[in-house]
Amino acid sequence: MSADGVVDLRRPEPLEPDEALEVVSSAFGLAVSHPVTLGGEFDQNLRVTDPTGRHYLVKVSALPDAGPSTADWHERILLHLQTTAPELPLPRLIPALGGHRYVIAPTSKGDRMFRVLSWLTGAPLAEQEHSDELLGELGRVAGLVSNALASMPEPSTAITHDWDMRRARDVVDRSIGAVDDPQQQADVSEVMRWFDTIEPLLADLPRGVAHQDLNDSNILATTDPDGRQRISGVLDIYDALYTARVAELAVATGYALVRKQDPMHVAQLVVAGFNAVAPLTDDELAAVFPLAAARLAMNAVTWTQRNANTRNDHGARRMQHTWPALAKVARIDPDYAEAALRVACGRPAHPDARRVAAAVATPAAPWSTAERSAVPVDTGTASDLFDVINWDQPAEVGRAVDGLLGSRADGFGVIDHLRPNLLWAGQRGVGADEPATTTLGTRLLLREGDPVTCPLGGVIETGDGLVLRHDVVDDDGPLTFRTHWHGLRPTASGPDVAAGAALGSAHGDAGDGLGTAVGVSVSLARRHRPGAGWPERVTPGAAAVFAELSPDPAALLGLERASASTLRAQNVLSIRRERLASSQRAYYRAPMNLQRGRGVWLYDEDGYGYLDSLNNVTHVGHADPRVAEASRRQMNKLNTNSRFLYEGISTYAQKLTDTLPDPLNVVFFVCTGSEANDLAVRIARQVTGRADIAIIDGAYHGNTGVVTGLSPNRYKGPGGAGAPPTTHEVMIPDRYRGPFGYDDPDAGSKYGAEAARLFDDMVSSGHPPAAFLAESLMGTAGNIVFPDGFLATAFAAARAAGALVISDEVQVGVGRMADTFWGFELGGVVPDIVTMGKPLGNGHPLAAVVTTREIADAFDTGMKYFNTFGGNPVSCAIGSAVLDIVLDDGLQQHAGEVGRYFADSLRQVQRRRPIIGDVRGQGLYLGVELVRDRDTKEPAKAEAFEVTELMKAEGVIVFPNGVHDNVLKIKPPMIFQREHVDIYCEALDRVLSRL
Ligand code: PMP
Repeated sequence: MSADGVVDLRRPEPLEPDEALEVVSSAFGLAVSHPVTLGGEFDQNLRVTDPTGRHYLVKVSALPDAGPSTADWHERILLHLQTTAPELPLPRLIPALGGHRYVIAPTSKGDRMFRVLSWLTGAPLAEQEHSDELLGELGRVAGLVSNALASMPEPSTAITHDWDMRRARDVVDRSIGAVDDPQQQADVSEVMRWFDTIEPLLADLPRGVAHQDLNDSNILATTDPDGRQRISGVLDIYDALYTARVAELAVATGYALVRKQDPMHVAQLVVAGFNAVAPLTDDELAAVFPLAAARLAMNAVTWTQRNANTRNDHGARRMQHTWPALAKVARIDPDYAEAALRVACGRPAHPDARRVAAAVATPAAPWSTAERSAVPVDTGTASDLFDVINWDQPAEVGRAVDGLLGSRADGFGVIDHLRPNLLWAGQRGVGADEPATTTLGTRLLLREGDPVTCPLGGVIETGDGLVLRHDVVDDDGPLTFRTHWHGLRPTASGPDVAAGAALGSAHGDAGDGLGTAVGVSVSLARRHRPGAGWPERVTPGAAAVFAELSPDPAALLGLERASASTLRAQNVLSIRRERLASSQRAYYRAPMNLQRGRGVWLYDEDGYGYLDSLNNVTHVGHADPRVAEASRRQMNKLNTNSRFLYEGISTYAQKLTDTLPDPLNVVFFVCTGSEANDLAVRIARQVTGRADIAIIDGAYHGNTGVVTGLSPNRYKGPGGAGAPPTTHEVMIPDRYRGPFGYDDPDAGSKYGAEAARLFDDMVSSGHPPAAFLAESLMGTAGNIVFPDGFLATAFAAARAAGALVISDEVQVGVGRMADTFWGFELGGVVPDIVTMGKPLGNGHPLAAVVTTREIADAFDTGMKYFNTFGGNPVSCAIGSAVLDIVLDDGLQQHAGEVGRYFADSLRQVQRRRPIIGDVRGQGLYLGVELVRDRDTKEPAKAEAFEVTELMKAEGVIVFPNGVHDNVLKIKPPMIFQREHVDIYCEALDRVLSRL
């Protein structure tokens, strides 16, 4: 018993495992062996095994100073739980020979208490990733424990220990001296400030016996064959206390926040799970987040202190994740947290939310004395404002906004409450915080010095920004809320400001190029914290909660909500599902609604940026202004079909064929890669008078009827009907999986000989090939880079069999291969026909077939070839601009430099992550092949799709392709830089570490 009359639990010096085994066999009659030491803070825990293979848990404890009565109490709790909540997965106490549930035995280290418990399956939560469902179940289990213990009486002796939540302040103060890092100190003091505000409430909250240690080492979970995680064990009752029952939930929640990207989301799941079985009071909901945060702080400082004294692996492991979790938690506004937890439990964000919304629905007086007209300013991702400016350049933004307002001398701009703002765009995820991209409150774009009057009488509370407290009375009685004003120089004469009186004048630069912006937001913050401010922007994920916590002030300002609403992802998706064929799949389980691209980034409706490592058509980058301008100028002058004469088609044909070796200098312009291949095959069939075509196994050549039958990637895949009789497959020259590997210097000629054998067979069986259609590096088949000599051998053999050779450059052309402008040049060959598509138009449908004069003439049998859209003036202007950019900006050379750096960086990740079986590539076209086992090379297809989802959450766009759908395709815009490679590789490494 310590001085203040409470029981103090201590850590005993551990016994040799064999000594413990002896006691267990003599006192419990269990012939156990194979002791395995497990973690544990106070007790020595051993897993032991009997001759039948059954495991038990042996706990060896110091005798509590209070003697066995505490142990009795713990046992009563366990038995009580077992009888009142049989659905809980609890260990059973194995009785000793005399029927006792524990044995006190003398040992070499003094008297020790021995207990034996049945073994539960599963791994501790600390060792697994947690599905949302599991986190909900964690809350539910905590609620069941709490309900079951509610009927236990208060113990006669007050029990406490250093993990007692009520003592958080003492515990933290005692050990905070061991924390050196000033940021860590600040984080602790922030969350302890929250604790201090709720601490006085604790005594009045519902009380009961609590397990009080549902931490992530004490909860076990297993995974069902269908991938569902379930809680399979609740351990370690030995921190039980009689306390506020919300402590139960707070402990479970606190540890669940560790190792999480979005702690608030996690807290919502756990708390909602608890509330579903053990409904929480409003005050408990207010206390749970500060308590959970305090628990993290207690944990962090206690272990930091203990580690400072003696190195403890358990503690060191814990600290590695606890401090970063605390850092994240400390940045969450506790008022927001309370609101978010209320919403998660199906309650209004604030008990007074509806009353305050009604109170601000009409102004008591106009907000400004001037009669002025409001000009809506949309700063959302889709806003036209950002089409032609760099939104990261405040001067350009300022000019664009002035342009909107300028024509009206009496106008002022209005940015609506809770609208995403592209000026605050940020990369999604990155293992860190969600970017706060959403405007909180209405922003008024005023001129410096513009007077602002008070729309609703109030009392000025603080100089940190300008906060007005409004005390009003409605049908339900008195009501208090606040309005927050940013960007105002206060002019009010005293603390009391009447409706219509001067409040301040617009002052200062908003810093985002918008000039003087006065932000007005309404807050229902329950506990106004002077100095803490009220955010001017929030994350999109928090917007739903803020919509209630901070009602739209537009009406208070006499304004109508102005911004044009665009469809949200869910609506876009549901219309798409309704009106598009289901075979046209979208990427991702929950696709983002993309509204803008710029350079290597794509932006969604929330202003989240995603690094584009995939979107192969935007060769020179998204929304390149030169391409857009070329298109706009030509569109304004002339667009028509190619039977008319216009300059663009001639000059572009010249420019394009100038990039190709002789005699490839005659063009057919078409619109898609599929169409190009379809036409190329038609030409070959007509010119040779043959029907059969050889392709490479695994290839994809497009979507028309003809080329689908030339695409094993389709006809062999789901729903495929198999190869048509005229299609013949050459073995895929895959050095990772095929018979001739990277270690075979003759792999190229060996795979070439395989191709030659097929052509011979075709000839001898009376099906001589009209064409050999081949990519120069296989894209959809999984980034198959050909071994040296393959193309030369195969082309020579095809020609010897009388075939024309068609190079499909749809994926690889236009400098991406870095060493050469066209892919076939890597193999030192010149095909008879080249097809090209994707990169030519930077996303505009522009494709081409280029061949020799001789073949083109042979195709002219008198039948006209006409293509309505192919080679139209706008397409040619775009194509010409793209070629100029590639050449002027040296993108081919750049692809080489960045591509090499990319490959090297990926190989470094590969060294750390065994799931990466192969990294291959050429120039800026790479593939990362994922396997379950590097020896068997079992394709990790499901994992590849999981990586796709996880990378999306990190703000990086990737997608698998390949014969087994297990190769991450890397084909970014050619302007990708090293810094983007770093973002990609760091995200991939993090994601793979979590698989
Ligand atoms: N050839 C290859 C090698 C391709 O990868 C593709 C498209 N993925 C096509 C042809 C078809 O091009 P499009 O989608 O423009 O019709």
